[in-house]
Formats: sequence, C-alpha cells, structure tokens
Amino acid sequence: MAEKVKLTSIAELGEFGLIDHINEKVKIKHKETIKGIGDDAAVLQFDKQQTVITTDLLVEGIHFDLMYTPLRHLGYKAIAVNVSDVVAMNATPKQVTVSLAMSGKFSVQAVDQIYEGIHAACEEYGVDLIGGDTTSSVTGLMISVTAIGTADPKKIVYRSGARENDIICVSGDLGSAYVGLQLMEREKEVFKANPNVQPQFQGKEYLLSRILKPTARLDVIKKLAENGVQPTAMMDISDGLSSELIHICRQSDTGCRIYDDKIPFRQDTVTAADEMNIEPLMAALNGGEDYELVFTISPDDYEKIKDQEGISFIGHMTNKSKGMYLTPQHGEEIQLKAQGWTAYKSE
Ligand code: ADP
Ligand code: MG
Repeated sequence: MAEKVKLTSIAELGEFGLIDHINEKVKIKHKETIKGIGDDAAVLQFDKQQTVITTDLLVEGIHFDLMYTPLRHLGYKAIAVNVSDVVAMNATPKQVTVSLAMSGKFSVQAVDQIYEGIHAACEEYGVDLIGGDTTSSVTGLMISVTAIGTADPKKIVYRSGARENDIICVSGDLGSAYVGLQLMEREKEVFKANPNVQPQFQGKEYLLSRILKPTARLDVIKKLAENGVQPTAMMDISDGLSSELIHICRQSDTGCRIYDDKIPFRQDTVTAADEMNIEPLMAALNGGEDYELVFTISPDDYEKIKDQEGISFIGHMTNKSKGMYLTPQHGEEIQLKAQGWTAYKSE
C-alpha cells in the first residue's frame, strides 16, 4: 500500500488496449485449443472425450471483500474454484474464460494483479485462458469464470452414483477456510475501530490461505486414478460437508452416516476455532469454502487407498430409510442439515 507507483487508468488503454495487454501474457498449452483470445469465439477440438463446463460468478461484497483480499489471490481463487468443479466431475480441466466487470476506480495495475493470480492458477492446473469479456460496472468488481474440462465418458463421476455401504472419503482437512474467514472478519472490525492496530495473523497463515487462495484438488483425482480407484459419487466442498453429503444422498437415493472423530482437522484450525468460540465440527459441516473433495468408493476399493496420505474415511452410505446422520463420540446423533446452526451461516 505504501509504495508509490503511477497508476494507469483503464480509460487510457481503452477496452481493446486492455484486452491486447491481457493477451500478451497468454500462452496456449493444449493442442485442443485451436483458437484462443482474438476472434468472436474460441475454437476447441476434442476427440472422443466428453466435455464438462462449469461457471462461477464472484461478486465484490458478496463473495469477497477487497479490504482483505489481495487481487492476486482473487484472480487465483476465481480460477481455482472453477477448476475444482471440473475436478469434482473427475474430469481434466483444459480451458477457462474470464469475464470482468470493474468500476472506474480500477487501474491497469489492478487488472495486472488479478491476471497475475489467474496466470499462476492456469499454470498450476494446466489450463489455457481462451477468452472472456471486459466491461465496466457502476460499483464493485465482478469476476465470472467458465471452465471447460474433458473426460473419458466412463470416468465421469456424478453425484448420483453412490450405493449403500460405499465408503465416504474426504481429502485434506476441513473447517480451516471458515475459521480463516472469521479470523479476517474479526481483524477487520479491530482495524476499523483503530487503523493503527496491526492484524494478529502470526501462525495463522494456513487458515488465511485457505480462504484467500484455495486449492483445487486435481492432485487427488490423479492419485485415485493412479491407484485404480473410480469414485462412485463426488463433489467439491464449497458449501460445507453437510450440504454436499445431502446432495449426494438425495441424488443417489441413499442415506449416510459419518463419525465426528473421523473428520480431518488440523491443529491450527482447532486452536484458532477455540480462541474464537467456534465449534470446529460446525465449521466443517456448515462453513464451506474448503474446496476439498468428498467422494464415495466401493468397499472393494478401500484396500487400494487405505494408506493414502491426505484421504480420510469418515463414514459410509446407508439405506435411504436410515436418514443422514453424524454420530458423535459423545452425545446424541446429529441429523445433517443443509444450513443448521444459523450462527455459522456465512451469508
Ligand atoms: P466481442 O465484442 O465479440 O465480445 P471482445 O472485444 O469483448 O469481443 O473480445 C475480443 C477477444 O478478447 C475475444 O477473444 C474475447 O474472448 C477476449 N477477451 C475479452 N475480454 C477478456 C478478458 N477479460 N480476459 C480474457 N480474454 C478476454
Ligand atoms: Mg466482449
């Protein structure tokens, strides 16, 4: 913030100048991308693969707060959350388009920061930036990304494929994004009250990174494929474990049972949650934005991944008549709700 750089207004470059400026840094990686930025539409050619397409719109004030979100991270996140949806279909992400609506307060340098994050994510997940749209907005910033991926038709994983007795698995750890978000909200209030107070983020870097710069778990679906495991159902965790499991159960016509002591938490999540009087379990069930994968596997596949680091086995699918429940080590069973505990609702 302190550095003095002369900012270039977007008006100076103009819309076409800005698009050329964006395009300068674009490198195409896939032979299937026949034409990227520069014509009325991009041209793609896939062989016998099926194509998956997904879009997410991020709106300032609703999905992100520029007071604590670096633009670079926002650009990265906009790509990552879309790649995460492609990955949740067990497909390989290939191309993205990025559409921006910006108010007059945005400079070319600000756009460059957003695109720095976009390019970093495109590199990391191996996707081509093939187009988008650029327009102005009266207030606030909006970023819409569309991601395209491909998969062998037999490999695509739907929400509807889980069967009774399938094992429920999750990647990574849960609840950290929600705890990170609460941490930033809390420090923002402190800062508003007294701008001289420095935020207390030491030792909390992981929690912040989880909300500001989430990772799409492309590595997880690659590992599953390497081990010959085809999930029966899969989703990425954007709204919270509860809500995602309910989707899988409804679409698969099953019930489910999970166990609280099997849910993966990091110690720093639990410590920070305690400090803020947040129940880590509720952060995992209802917090959301972890962008981990929840998937089910046939019991026959369990042996293949039982020792795989970073995968937790948290329960199993049941007959629909058994309902959807979490069994705690102590106390009564908790029925899974899409948005229980209003105190933990993010919006
Ligand atoms: P049109 O008038 O047909 O919408 P544009 O001038 O908006 O065309 O876009 C020209 C080219 O630049 C297209 O290939 C479009 O996909 C691409 N493009 C526009 N805005 C962006 C952006 N923000 N990021 C990436 N590509 C963009
Ligand atoms: Mg356009």
